[in-house]
Amino acid sequence: MIIDNHPFTVNKQGHLEIGGIDSVTLAKKYGTPLYVYDVQIIRNNCRAFVNTFKKMGIPAKVAYASKAFSSIAMLQVMKQEEMYLDVVSEGELYTALQAGFPTEKIHLHGNNKSIAEIRMAIENNIGCIVVDNFQEIQHIHSLLKDYNKQMDVLMRVTPGVESKTHQYIMTGHEDSKFGFNLQNGQAENALLKMIDDPYICFQGLHCHIGSQIFETDRFILATNMLFESLKMWKQQYNYVPNVLNLGGGYGIRYTKEDAPISYAPFIEELIYEVQKQAESIAIPMPEIWIEPGRAIAGNAGITLYTIGSMKEIPGIRNYIAVDGGMTDNLRPSLYQAKYEAVLANKADWLVEKKVSIAGKCCESGDMLIWDLPLPAVSQNDILAVFSTGAYGYSMANHYNRFAKPAVVFVENGKDKLVVRRETYKDVTRHDLSFE
Ligand SMILES: *Cc1c(COP(=O)(O)O)cnc(C)c1O
Repeated sequence: MIIDNHPFTVNKQGHLEIGGIDSVTLAKKYGTPLYVYDVQIIRNNCRAFVNTFKKMGIPAKVAYASKAFSSIAMLQVMKQEEMYLDVVSEGELYTALQAGFPTEKIHLHGNNKSIAEIRMAIENNIGCIVVDNFQEIQHIHSLLKDYNKQMDVLMRVTPGVESKTHQYIMTGHEDSKFGFNLQNGQAENALLKMIDDPYICFQGLHCHIGSQIFETDRFILATNMLFESLKMWKQQYNYVPNVLNLGGGYGIRYTKEDAPISYAPFIEELIYEVQKQAESIAIPMPEIWIEPGRAIAGNAGITLYTIGSMKEIPGIRNYIAVDGGMTDNLRPSLYQAKYEAVLANKADWLVEKKVSIAGKCCESGDMLIWDLPLPAVSQNDILAVFSTGAYGYSMANHYNRFAKPAVVFVENGKDKLVVRRETYKDVTRHDLSFE
């Protein structure tokens, strides 16, 4: 039996299965809350992007935006899949180094890169820095000069496109903290600062218009805006980009309201658009870079919880509480993100009524799912929430001094612990006595 809307099945015992393993067994073995990833799905997601470029013979780099889920094991899988990697902090870069990720395939992002971050990037000879503002151009220039090194640099621009998504995950509009503005001349000034720099090897433009995007139209609009500037820059400065980085943001299916998208035709359409635009201003086809995060990790991960207390308010609502919440999945309380879930131990039972899934933090906003149709629920049932693979563990926090859950990878019918569950000793590790 197949689970509606999600890439998982139900086994003979009527339990939710992931990567050939009974999820209820995993919950018993490792405890809950527990993040579980089907590694084959992660690999398939990578290949959907990489193979589309390969098939079309288009030089490209597919970089996993590691903020979606960064851990040593995850980055090792990215290395095996020949992905490139985006990092946005020293911590993410450090994790990549610990994973043995090839440094020349790492790209550094961020709207406020510290000197230490830029130094770390230069010392480790990473592949590219995506520059975000004027101060940073200066810092990168002088640090590269100190080290007597050259480095590839892209310029992040805001094309003035609004993606149809939540405001917090919308980044390509003019009034954004990210990047150089294309319309008001800032991007052009930045270009002039970098174009002849002996240390900065200026490679081209980057834009990332937002997240959880389902239609190509916004990407195409953004591409049009980039090419409008490129056309002028070619005429005025004879400037021709080597690289066009179109960012990430490819939508995934959280609930049945999200139409599933097939990445191959999506990418093909973008490629055709760039080809068309490049032809129209008579420049060679630039190398295309993209940066999917959510689309790589999101649907491959689920979170398992144990059902605890239940509260029925007659005629109003049934609250069902689980042993996690906004500490392991911040997205519902941060931006009203929606999820679907099943009872992993009753995955073949008929749905009976709608219940609302509450976390256990001392916040009324700590609700994971409102009005979820479930079979009859009992204490100690295992709830499996789908599509928690991106921005779940990576946004986990210690509110109420919860320990962060463990992460398990499953592949070919084998399970492996890849992030240990925190202990309370870990939680208090940095506390110092005042007595
Ligand atoms: C967050 C981010 C991504 C990834 O976004 P997803 O929605 O996870 O695909 C890619 N590029 C940049 C610059 C980002 O900030």
